[in-house]
Amino acid sequence: MLLTDATLYRLAHATMLALGSTDDEADVVAQHLVAANLKGHPSHGVGMLPFYVDSVQAGTLQPNEPAWLLNDSGAILQFDGERGYGQRVVREAVDAAIDRVADTGIVLLTVRNSHHMGRIGSYGEQVAAAGKVGLFFVNVTDFPQPLVAPFGGSAARFGTNPLCVAFPAGASEPAFVLDFATSMVAYGKTRVAYLAGQHFDEPVMLDAAGQPTADPAAMHEAPTGALRPIAAHKGGGLVAAIELLAGLLSGGGTLQPGNPRAGGIVNNLTAVIIDPAAVADTDWLRQEYDAMAAYIRSSPPPAGQPPLQLAGEPERRREAEARSRGIEMSDNEWAAIVAAARRAGVVNPEAL
Ligand code: NAD
Repeated sequence: MLLTDATLYRLAHATMLALGSTDDEADVVAQHLVAANLKGHPSHGVGMLPFYVDSVQAGTLQPNEPAWLLNDSGAILQFDGERGYGQRVVREAVDAAIDRVADTGIVLLTVRNSHHMGRIGSYGEQVAAAGKVGLFFVNVTDFPQPLVAPFGGSAARFGTNPLCVAFPAGASEPAFVLDFATSMVAYGKTRVAYLAGQHFDEPVMLDAAGQPTADPAAMHEAPTGALRPIAAHKGGGLVAAIELLAGLLSGGGTLQPGNPRAGGIVNNLTAVIIDPAAVADTDWLRQEYDAMAAYIRSSPPPAGQPPLQLAGEPERRREAEARSRGIEMSDNEWAAIVAAARRAGVVNPEAL
Protein backbone atom coordinates (compact mmCIF):
# COMPACT_ATOMS: atom_id res chain seq x y z
CA MET A 1 0.00 0.00 0.00
CA LEU A 2 0.96 3.66 -0.42
CA LEU A 3 0.62 6.02 2.57
CA THR A 4 1.27 9.72 3.00
CA ASP A 5 3.87 10.99 5.46
CA ALA A 6 1.07 12.94 7.19
CA THR A 7 -0.88 9.71 7.87
CA LEU A 8 2.18 7.98 9.28
CA TYR A 9 3.04 11.02 11.39
CA ARG A 10 -0.48 11.19 12.89
CA LEU A 11 -0.41 7.50 13.79
CA ALA A 12 3.12 7.64 15.24
CA HIS A 13 2.43 10.84 17.20
CA ALA A 14 -0.84 9.47 18.64
CA THR A 15 0.86 6.21 19.62
CA MET A 16 3.67 8.06 21.39
CA LEU A 17 1.18 10.25 23.27
CA ALA A 18 -0.78 7.16 24.29
CA LEU A 19 2.48 5.68 25.63
CA GLY A 20 2.88 8.73 27.90
CA SER A 21 5.28 10.99 25.98
CA THR A 22 4.94 14.75 26.13
CA ASP A 23 3.75 16.42 22.95
CA ASP A 24 7.31 17.64 22.18
CA GLU A 25 8.86 14.21 22.62
CA ALA A 26 6.10 12.57 20.55
CA ASP A 27 6.77 15.12 17.81
CA VAL A 28 10.56 14.60 17.74
CA VAL A 29 10.28 10.80 17.68
CA ALA A 30 7.40 10.70 15.17
CA GLN A 31 9.28 13.07 12.83
CA HIS A 32 12.42 10.94 13.04
CA LEU A 33 10.48 7.74 12.28
CA VAL A 34 8.54 9.21 9.34
CA ALA A 35 11.76 10.75 7.92
CA ALA A 36 13.32 7.27 7.96
CA ASN A 37 10.38 5.97 5.90
CA LEU A 38 10.61 8.93 3.52
CA LYS A 39 14.35 8.46 3.04
CA GLY A 40 13.94 4.79 2.16
CA HIS A 41 14.96 3.22 5.48
CA PRO A 42 11.68 1.64 6.63
CA SER A 43 13.70 -0.58 8.97
CA HIS A 44 14.03 2.52 11.20
CA GLY A 45 10.65 4.04 10.45
CA VAL A 46 7.20 3.77 11.99
CA GLY A 47 7.52 -0.02 11.67
CA MET A 48 9.54 0.20 14.92
CA LEU A 49 6.40 1.25 16.83
CA PRO A 50 5.23 -2.30 17.71
CA PHE A 51 8.61 -2.88 19.34
CA TYR A 52 8.48 0.48 21.14
CA VAL A 53 4.98 -0.22 22.48
CA ASP A 54 6.10 -3.60 23.83
CA SER A 55 9.26 -2.03 25.24
CA VAL A 56 7.40 0.75 27.12
CA GLN A 57 4.97 -1.83 28.46
CA ALA A 58 7.88 -4.08 29.53
CA GLY A 59 9.70 -1.14 31.18
CA THR A 60 12.78 -1.37 28.93
CA LEU A 61 11.93 2.00 27.27
CA GLN A 62 11.18 5.04 29.43
CA PRO A 63 9.18 7.96 27.97
CA ASN A 64 10.17 11.54 28.85
CA GLU A 65 13.87 11.05 29.59
CA PRO A 66 16.10 13.89 28.34
CA ALA A 67 19.85 13.54 27.75
CA TRP A 68 21.29 13.57 31.29
CA LEU A 69 24.70 15.25 31.48
CA LEU A 70 27.24 13.01 33.25
CA ASN A 71 30.53 14.70 32.48
CA ASP A 72 31.25 18.17 31.09
CA SER A 73 34.97 18.77 30.78
CA GLY A 74 35.32 21.24 27.94
CA ALA A 75 35.85 19.24 24.80
CA ILE A 76 34.33 16.13 26.38
CA LEU A 77 30.57 15.85 26.83
CA GLN A 78 29.12 12.62 28.21
CA PHE A 79 25.43 11.84 28.61
CA ASP A 80 23.23 9.05 29.93
CA GLY A 81 19.97 8.33 28.12
CA GLU A 82 18.35 6.48 31.05
CA ARG A 83 16.62 4.25 28.47
CA GLY A 84 14.74 7.20 27.03
CA TYR A 85 13.84 7.49 23.35
CA GLY A 86 17.19 7.74 21.54
CA GLN A 87 15.66 9.95 18.84
CA ARG A 88 15.15 12.62 21.51
CA VAL A 89 18.16 11.92 23.74
CA VAL A 90 20.75 11.97 20.95
CA ARG A 91 19.21 15.01 19.23
CA GLU A 92 19.62 16.93 22.51
CA ALA A 93 23.16 15.62 23.09
CA VAL A 94 24.19 16.53 19.54
CA ASP A 95 22.70 20.02 19.97
CA ALA A 96 24.87 20.46 23.07
CA ALA A 97 27.96 19.28 21.14
CA ILE A 98 27.22 21.68 18.26
CA ASP A 99 27.03 24.58 20.75
CA ARG A 100 30.24 23.51 22.48
CA VAL A 101 32.31 22.89 19.38
CA ALA A 102 32.11 26.59 18.52
CA ASP A 103 34.40 27.15 21.55
CA THR A 104 36.52 24.02 21.59
CA GLY A 105 36.89 23.18 17.86
CA ILE A 106 36.41 19.48 18.59
CA VAL A 107 34.08 17.59 20.92
CA LEU A 108 34.20 13.99 22.01
CA LEU A 109 30.53 13.19 22.66
CA THR A 110 29.29 10.02 24.27
CA VAL A 111 25.77 8.83 25.10
CA ARG A 112 25.28 5.63 27.04
CA ASN A 113 22.21 3.67 27.95
CA SER A 114 19.83 5.28 25.46
CA HIS A 115 16.98 3.29 23.97
CA HIS A 116 17.13 2.73 20.18
CA MET A 117 18.70 5.78 18.48
CA GLY A 118 17.00 5.04 15.14
CA ARG A 119 18.61 6.20 11.90
CA ILE A 120 22.06 7.47 12.84
CA GLY A 121 22.24 9.51 9.61
CA SER A 122 19.65 11.88 11.11
CA TYR A 123 22.34 13.05 13.58
CA GLY A 124 24.83 13.33 10.73
CA GLU A 125 22.32 15.57 8.94
CA GLN A 126 21.87 17.60 12.14
CA VAL A 127 25.62 18.20 12.45
CA ALA A 128 26.11 18.90 8.72
CA ALA A 129 23.22 21.40 8.71
CA ALA A 130 25.10 23.29 11.46
CA GLY A 131 28.23 23.38 9.26
CA LYS A 132 30.14 20.80 11.35
CA VAL A 133 31.77 17.46 10.58
CA GLY A 134 30.67 14.38 12.53
CA LEU A 135 31.87 10.80 13.03
CA PHE A 136 29.42 8.52 14.84
CA PHE A 137 29.97 5.01 16.18
CA VAL A 138 27.08 3.10 17.78
CA ASN A 139 26.83 -0.32 19.40
CA VAL A 140 23.76 -2.26 20.50
CA THR A 141 23.22 -3.96 23.84
CA ASP A 142 20.31 -5.37 25.86
CA PHE A 143 18.78 -7.13 22.82
CA PRO A 144 17.91 -10.73 23.75
CA GLN A 145 20.44 -12.17 21.31
CA PRO A 146 23.44 -10.85 19.33
CA LEU A 147 22.71 -10.49 15.59
CA VAL A 148 25.98 -10.27 13.64
CA ALA A 149 28.57 -13.01 13.30
CA PRO A 150 32.25 -12.06 13.64
CA PHE A 151 34.31 -12.62 10.46
CA GLY A 152 35.32 -16.27 10.47
CA GLY A 153 32.65 -17.27 13.04
CA SER A 154 29.12 -18.59 12.57
CA ALA A 155 27.38 -17.61 15.84
CA ALA A 156 26.42 -13.96 16.35
CA ARG A 157 28.48 -11.84 18.75
CA PHE A 158 27.57 -8.22 17.85
CA GLY A 159 24.69 -5.92 17.10
CA THR A 160 24.53 -4.28 13.67
CA ASN A 161 26.86 -1.47 14.91
CA PRO A 162 26.17 1.47 12.57
CA LEU A 163 28.76 4.00 11.39
CA CYS A 164 28.05 7.52 10.17
CA VAL A 165 30.39 10.14 8.67
CA ALA A 166 28.89 13.53 7.83
CA PHE A 167 30.42 16.52 6.03
CA PRO A 168 28.59 19.83 5.52
CA ALA A 169 27.47 21.03 2.08
CA GLY A 170 29.71 23.09 -0.20
CA ALA A 171 28.49 25.90 -2.45
CA SER A 172 27.09 23.48 -5.06
CA GLU A 173 27.36 19.98 -3.56
CA PRO A 174 24.90 18.95 -0.81
CA ALA A 175 26.10 17.42 2.46
CA PHE A 176 27.89 14.06 2.45
CA VAL A 177 26.11 11.70 4.86
CA LEU A 178 27.46 8.17 4.92
CA ASP A 179 25.39 6.04 7.29
CA PHE A 180 25.13 2.28 7.36
CA ALA A 181 24.93 -0.83 9.49
CA THR A 182 28.18 -2.80 9.45
CA SER A 183 26.21 -5.97 8.79
CA MET A 184 25.50 -6.79 5.12
CA VAL A 185 21.92 -5.80 5.82
CA ALA A 186 20.31 -3.93 8.73
CA TYR A 187 18.33 -6.25 11.03
CA GLY A 188 15.16 -4.18 10.54
CA LYS A 189 15.40 -4.80 6.79
CA THR A 190 15.19 -8.54 7.46
CA ARG A 191 11.97 -7.82 9.42
CA VAL A 192 10.53 -5.76 6.54
CA ALA A 193 11.49 -8.47 3.99
CA TYR A 194 10.17 -11.28 6.21
CA LEU A 195 6.82 -9.54 6.68
CA ALA A 196 6.62 -8.87 2.93
CA GLY A 197 7.49 -12.52 2.11
CA GLN A 198 10.61 -11.50 0.14
CA HIS A 199 14.11 -12.97 -0.10
CA PHE A 200 17.29 -10.89 -0.51
CA ASP A 201 19.21 -10.94 -3.81
CA GLU A 202 22.36 -12.11 -2.02
CA PRO A 203 23.11 -14.44 0.93
CA VAL A 204 23.41 -11.66 3.54
CA MET A 205 22.78 -14.03 6.49
CA LEU A 206 24.03 -17.33 7.87
CA ASP A 207 21.45 -19.94 8.85
CA ALA A 208 21.62 -21.72 12.20
CA ALA A 209 24.03 -24.25 10.67
CA GLY A 210 26.36 -21.42 9.58
CA GLN A 211 25.48 -21.69 5.87
CA PRO A 212 24.96 -18.47 3.81
CA THR A 213 21.28 -17.77 3.06
CA ALA A 214 19.12 -15.06 1.46
CA ASP A 215 15.93 -16.14 3.32
CA PRO A 216 15.05 -13.64 6.13
CA ALA A 217 13.35 -16.47 8.01
CA ALA A 218 16.90 -17.23 9.21
CA MET A 219 16.57 -14.21 11.54
CA HIS A 220 12.89 -14.59 12.49
CA GLU A 221 12.21 -18.33 12.89
CA ALA A 222 13.93 -20.59 15.43
CA PRO A 223 16.64 -21.75 15.36
CA THR A 224 17.91 -18.33 14.28
CA GLY A 225 21.16 -17.65 12.42
CA ALA A 226 23.23 -14.49 12.10
CA LEU A 227 23.74 -11.49 9.83
CA ARG A 228 27.08 -11.44 8.01
CA PRO A 229 29.43 -8.46 8.47
CA ILE A 230 30.20 -6.26 5.43
CA ALA A 231 33.43 -6.46 3.45
CA ALA A 232 34.91 -9.74 4.76
CA HIS A 233 37.76 -9.32 7.30
CA LYS A 234 37.75 -5.51 6.92
CA GLY A 235 34.07 -5.24 7.81
CA GLY A 236 34.47 -7.87 10.51
CA GLY A 237 37.22 -5.72 12.02
CA LEU A 238 35.07 -2.59 11.71
CA VAL A 239 32.13 -4.18 13.55
CA ALA A 240 34.49 -5.09 16.40
CA ALA A 241 36.17 -1.65 16.39
CA ILE A 242 32.78 0.09 16.69
CA GLU A 243 31.80 -2.25 19.55
CA LEU A 244 34.91 -1.10 21.43
CA LEU A 245 34.67 2.62 20.59
CA ALA A 246 30.94 2.93 21.31
CA GLY A 247 30.62 0.42 24.13
CA LEU A 248 33.76 1.18 26.12
CA LEU A 249 34.28 4.95 25.73
CA SER A 250 30.61 5.73 26.46
CA GLY A 251 30.68 3.57 29.59
CA GLY A 252 27.58 1.75 28.32
CA GLY A 253 29.33 -1.58 27.84
CA THR A 254 29.37 -4.24 25.16
CA LEU A 255 27.40 -7.32 24.22
CA GLN A 256 29.67 -9.65 26.21
CA PRO A 257 27.41 -12.05 28.14
CA GLY A 258 28.38 -10.74 31.58
CA ASN A 259 26.21 -7.69 30.86
CA PRO A 260 22.43 -7.82 31.35
CA ARG A 261 20.13 -8.48 28.38
CA ALA A 262 16.67 -7.33 29.40
CA GLY A 263 15.27 -7.66 25.87
CA GLY A 264 15.09 -4.01 24.79
CA ILE A 265 17.40 -2.21 22.38
CA VAL A 266 19.99 -0.07 24.13
CA ASN A 267 22.33 1.97 21.93
CA ASN A 268 25.60 3.53 23.10
CA LEU A 269 27.22 6.25 21.03
CA THR A 270 30.71 7.67 20.71
CA ALA A 271 30.94 10.63 18.34
CA VAL A 272 33.57 13.15 17.32
CA ILE A 273 32.17 16.51 16.24
CA ILE A 274 34.58 18.90 14.51
CA ASP A 275 34.21 22.57 13.65
CA PRO A 276 36.00 22.76 10.27
CA ALA A 277 36.57 26.49 10.81
CA ALA A 278 38.91 25.57 13.68
CA VAL A 279 41.30 23.72 11.36
CA ALA A 280 41.03 25.25 7.86
CA ASP A 281 39.80 28.24 5.91
CA THR A 282 36.09 27.61 5.32
CA ASP A 283 36.01 29.14 1.80
CA TRP A 284 38.85 26.84 0.75
CA LEU A 285 37.11 23.85 2.39
CA ARG A 286 33.89 24.49 0.47
CA GLN A 287 35.70 24.92 -2.86
CA GLU A 288 37.80 21.81 -2.30
CA TYR A 289 34.73 19.80 -1.25
CA ASP A 290 32.79 20.87 -4.36
CA ALA A 291 35.78 20.21 -6.62
CA MET A 292 36.40 16.71 -5.23
CA ALA A 293 32.70 15.83 -5.39
CA ALA A 294 32.59 16.96 -9.04
CA TYR A 295 35.70 14.89 -9.77
CA ILE A 296 34.13 11.78 -8.18
CA ARG A 297 30.93 12.37 -10.15
CA SER A 298 32.87 12.62 -13.41
CA SER A 299 33.81 8.92 -13.16
CA PRO A 300 31.63 7.35 -15.88
CA PRO A 301 29.31 4.51 -14.83
CA PRO A 302 29.63 1.15 -16.62
CA ALA A 303 27.54 0.93 -19.81
CA GLY A 304 23.80 0.86 -19.11
CA GLN A 305 24.18 1.91 -15.47
CA PRO A 306 22.78 5.15 -13.97
CA PRO A 307 25.16 7.98 -12.92
CA LEU A 308 26.98 7.35 -9.66
CA GLN A 309 25.79 8.99 -6.44
CA LEU A 310 27.52 10.33 -3.35
CA ALA A 311 26.48 9.29 0.16
CA GLY A 312 23.31 11.06 1.26
CA GLU A 313 22.01 11.41 -2.29
CA PRO A 314 19.89 8.22 -2.41
CA GLU A 315 18.08 9.40 0.74
CA ARG A 316 17.42 12.86 -0.75
CA ARG A 317 16.14 11.35 -4.00
CA ARG A 318 13.91 8.81 -2.25
CA GLU A 319 12.49 11.50 0.02
CA ALA A 320 11.57 13.74 -2.93
CA GLU A 321 9.91 10.78 -4.65
CA ALA A 322 8.08 9.54 -1.53
CA ARG A 323 6.72 13.03 -0.84
CA SER A 324 5.03 13.08 -4.24
CA ARG A 325 4.21 9.37 -4.72
CA GLY A 326 3.62 8.26 -1.12
CA ILE A 327 5.40 5.82 1.19
CA GLU A 328 5.25 2.16 0.29
CA MET A 329 4.47 -0.34 3.04
CA SER A 330 3.49 -4.01 3.13
CA ASP A 331 -0.03 -4.87 4.39
CA ASN A 332 1.52 -6.97 7.18
CA GLU A 333 3.68 -4.10 8.43
CA TRP A 334 0.73 -1.68 8.37
CA ALA A 335 -1.43 -4.19 10.27
CA ALA A 336 1.32 -4.62 12.90
CA ILE A 337 1.60 -0.82 13.36
CA VAL A 338 -2.16 -0.33 13.70
CA ALA A 339 -2.39 -3.22 16.17
CA ALA A 340 0.45 -1.69 18.20
CA ALA A 341 -1.29 1.70 18.28
CA ARG A 342 -4.39 -0.02 19.63
CA ARG A 343 -2.30 -1.89 22.24
CA ALA A 344 -0.85 1.46 23.31
CA GLY A 345 -4.38 2.79 23.87
CA VAL A 346 -5.09 4.73 20.66
CA VAL A 347 -8.83 4.58 20.02
CA ASN A 348 -9.77 3.68 16.44
CA PRO A 349 -6.24 4.08 14.96
CA GLU A 350 -7.50 3.37 11.41
CA ALA A 351 -9.38 6.68 11.52
CA LEU A 352 -6.05 8.53 11.81
P1 NAD B 1 22.34 1.14 3.35
O1 NAD B 1 22.93 -0.17 3.02
O2 NAD B 1 21.08 1.55 2.65
O3 NAD B 1 23.47 2.24 3.09
C1 NAD B 1 23.13 3.56 3.31
C2 NAD B 1 24.32 4.46 3.04
O4 NAD B 1 24.91 4.19 1.77
C3 NAD B 1 23.85 5.90 2.98
O5 NAD B 1 24.88 6.73 3.43
C4 NAD B 1 23.56 6.09 1.50
O6 NAD B 1 23.57 7.46 1.14
C5 NAD B 1 24.68 5.30 0.89
N1 NAD B 1 24.32 4.74 -0.41
C6 NAD B 1 23.34 3.85 -0.67
N2 NAD B 1 23.30 3.55 -1.98
C7 NAD B 1 24.30 4.25 -2.57
C8 NAD B 1 24.78 4.38 -3.91
N3 NAD B 1 24.22 3.70 -4.92
N4 NAD B 1 25.82 5.20 -4.14
C9 NAD B 1 26.38 5.90 -3.14
N5 NAD B 1 25.98 5.83 -1.85
C10 NAD B 1 24.95 5.02 -1.57
O7 NAD B 1 22.07 1.31 4.92
P2 NAD B 1 21.82 0.17 6.02
O8 NAD B 1 23.08 -0.53 6.35
O9 NAD B 1 20.68 -0.65 5.56
O10 NAD B 1 21.38 1.03 7.26
C11 NAD B 1 20.08 1.58 7.31
C12 NAD B 1 19.91 2.42 8.53
O11 NAD B 1 19.93 1.62 9.68
C13 NAD B 1 20.99 3.48 8.76
O12 NAD B 1 20.32 4.72 8.86
C14 NAD B 1 21.61 3.12 10.10
O13 NAD B 1 21.97 4.21 10.91
C15 NAD B 1 20.48 2.37 10.74
N6 NAD B 1 20.94 1.45 11.79
C16 NAD B 1 20.67 1.78 13.10
C17 NAD B 1 21.04 0.90 14.10
C18 NAD B 1 20.73 1.20 15.55
O14 NAD B 1 21.00 0.37 16.39
N7 NAD B 1 20.19 2.33 15.88
C19 NAD B 1 21.69 -0.28 13.80
C20 NAD B 1 21.98 -0.55 12.47
C21 NAD B 1 21.60 0.31 11.45
